[in-house]
Amino acid sequence: MNDRHPFSKKSDSKKSDSKGDLGLTAEDLLHAFDHLRQNRSAKRPSPHKPLMVLLALGRILRGDRRFMAYSDIQGPGTSLIEDYGLNARQPDPCLPFTHLSGDRAGQGRLWEIRDWDEIQRRLKEDPATREKIEHQSPLMLIRSPSRLKKHDVEAGFTAPVYHLLKGNHRLIFQIARRLLDKEFPETLHADILARVGLDEALDEMDHREAIVKRRPRDPRFREEVLVAYGYRCAVCDYNIRLGNTSLGVEAAHIRWHAYRGPDRIDNGLALCTIHHRALDNGAIGIDEGMRVMVSDHVNGDRDSCERYFHRFRGKEIHLPYNADDRPDPDHLEWHLDRVFRSRRRRPLASEPLP
Ligand SMILES: [Zn+2]
Repeated sequence: MNDRHPFSKKSDSKKSDSKGDLGLTAEDLLHAFDHLRQNRSAKRPSPHKPLMVLLALGRILRGDRRFMAYSDIQGPGTSLIEDYGLNARQPDPCLPFTHLSGDRAGQGRLWEIRDWDEIQRRLKEDPATREKIEHQSPLMLIRSPSRLKKHDVEAGFTAPVYHLLKGNHRLIFQIARRLLDKEFPETLHADILARVGLDEALDEMDHREAIVKRRPRDPRFREEVLVAYGYRCAVCDYNIRLGNTSLGVEAAHIRWHAYRGPDRIDNGLALCTIHHRALDNGAIGIDEGMRVMVSDHVNGDRDSCERYFHRFRGKEIHLPYNADDRPDPDHLEWHLDRVFRSRRRRPLASEPLP
C-alpha cells in the first residue's frame, strides 16, 4: 500500500489519510500553502506551483468538481505560466499538475492524481513505458503533456483539502493573498486574480473585513528609492505632485522578493505607475548600459505605443546622483532573463495531440 507515491513514502497509508485528515484545520492548510515544495535552488526557479494552486482555487470558487482533467487546464495553465512564470523554458502546467502530489497538508497530502494505482498499471502495460518503469518513478514517466493526455490524467486537491476549502471561501482568499504576496510584485496581483477568477470576490472580501495580514514591506525602501531618484520616473521623468504629495511615482523592485531581491536602493527604481507595471510585466527592461529596452510584445495604438514606450527605447534612464544607489547590474540581468519579454513565445501546442 505504501511506497506507491515517490514523495510520500513515510506516512502514506490509506489509514493515515482517512483518519488523520479528518482533523485537517485551516491552520494546517495555510501552513501547507506557505511551505509548498519549490526548488528555489534550481537554475531557473519558477512560480509554477503557486500559479497552479491559484488556478485550482478559482475553480473551487466557481463550484467545479474536485478533479481537473489535464486536457482541460493545459490551455489556461500554459497561458498563465507564459505570462507570469518568469520566462519559463517549459510554459506548461504538466509539472505542477503532477508534482503538487508531493506536498503535504496536515497528516495527509495536499493534492492527488486520480486513480493513481490504475495509471501505474497502465504505464506497466504501455509499450512506450513498460521497460522504463523498472528504473524510473511512475510520476516522472507520466508527467509529460503527451502522456498526461494519452492516459486522460486528472488531478486535484485531496478530498479533505477540497472539502475544507469548498466550505470556507474566506480561507481560499487568505491562501490566494498569501501566495501572491509571497511570489509576485503587487502590480501583478490584480491581473493574476482576474485570470484565475478570484478577483471580484476577493476585492469584496478585502473591503468587508481586514482578513488578510499582508506581508510587511519595508517602508524605508519606498522612501529611500524615491528620494534617490528625486521623486521622478527613471524612464519618462514624470514627477507631478499635488502640493507635497507625489502623484503616481512608485518604488519598484528590479529583482523580485521571492527570488532573493533585497529591499535596497540598488534593487530599486523610481517609476511612474505605467512604467512600474511595465517593468513588473516585462514590457520594459534596463540593459547593462542603463538604457531602456522595450519588449517586442508591446502593442496598442501607434500614438500610445510611441508616447509611453518606443520613444524611450535606447534612452539612458535618469539615475541617482550617488553611484552606490544605481541599479546593481546583477539585478538588472536577472530581470532581463526572467521577466523581460524578449523571446518569441512558443506555440501553445508544442506537441502533437494523442
Ligand atoms: Zn514613467
